[in-house]
Amino acid sequence: MTEKLSYRQNPNFPNRYISPEKLFRYLQANYSDCISVLGTSFLEKPIYKMTLGNGPVRIVAWSQMHGNESNATHGLLDLLEIFRYQPELRKELFLKISLDFVVMLNPDGAEKWTRRNALDIDINRDFLKLSSKEFPLLKNLVETGNYGYALNLHEQRTIFTTDGENPATLSFLAPSEDPERTLTETRKKTMAVIVRIYEALQTQLPNQIARYSDEFYPTSAGDNFTKFGLPCVLFEGGHYPNDYNRCKTREYYTIALYEGLKAMAALGGATDSWEKYSEIPQNRESHYDIIYRNVRLNTSFDCVLDIAVQYREEIPDGADEIIFTPIVVEVGDVGKKKGWKEIDCTGKKFISEKKFPKLDAEVNFRIE
Ligand SMILES: [Zn+2]
Repeated sequence: MTEKLSYRQNPNFPNRYISPEKLFRYLQANYSDCISVLGTSFLEKPIYKMTLGNGPVRIVAWSQMHGNESNATHGLLDLLEIFRYQPELRKELFLKISLDFVVMLNPDGAEKWTRRNALDIDINRDFLKLSSKEFPLLKNLVETGNYGYALNLHEQRTIFTTDGENPATLSFLAPSEDPERTLTETRKKTMAVIVRIYEALQTQLPNQIARYSDEFYPTSAGDNFTKFGLPCVLFEGGHYPNDYNRCKTREYYTIALYEGLKAMAALGGATDSWEKYSEIPQNRESHYDIIYRNVRLNTSFDCVLDIAVQYREEIPDGADEIIFTPIVVEVGDVGKKKGWKEIDCTGKKFISEKKFPKLDAEVNFRIE
């Protein structure tokens, strides 16, 4: 009987923001025997690959291809911390698998907390052009590493739910390899892994796991690696109620990462129960962070409307944690959407130096 994984957070990295320098120092100090430098970013930061285990099922993974998505880097750091306390779990897993984990593929974006790299290239849309300095490093590794599986680790915005009510705290995808979304053997292998993760987490995270749209993206990594014949599991960490720092998401993400590796170890390329993938609810775009309802503006005519707001995440210079700035993203009738926070402004005053809330601008009003 295998012991159960007992989650713990890596205490060296309590914040959602991970400073690349701090991460590099930590890896060098604690894991120097299993890291190597895969290459460097445009701004000459090292891109590290960590190699764990020497089992027959070969897996490649990468985190922070989008710089402002730290859940997966935390997932690895937390898993390493958990394994210090549960060495049996580590031993058991790494007898079966060998894992090459590219930690923070986009360190320049991670430093500035941006999706894109220093040249404003989206590394996950660079498969065909290979314009970035970072993506070719990964592509070469994946294509020459003789892997059985890949883990393409991301985060998604707070707008997604599983059912219009509950947030999609975790979403998964078995990417398509053609516009027709053909159910190939490679996709079925990916689906079988996702089904196992879903079944393992369903009871602890009910109604908060979804599958991402399988629309074909001709320039993205997951779709092309799948086309290349490599089952590529896409992870998306998402919203959890009142948890904008994504601590709970981080916890479930780490558990899902462990379950994913275990599933790959057990399946070793088999497609058992892949059909159940279609039972996982589909991501729905249904929410904004805040909706102010029935706001009466100070106009010469009677103007009552809704204002939807999304937080913009930023890292101030020299800070060690991100801040959230509310931005107006929709004005008018927002009746079709819901807010994680809903504020009914009926009978209240709209106080602002401007007559109207401006789209794409910071919230410059208060309601009293
Ligand atoms: Zn992403």
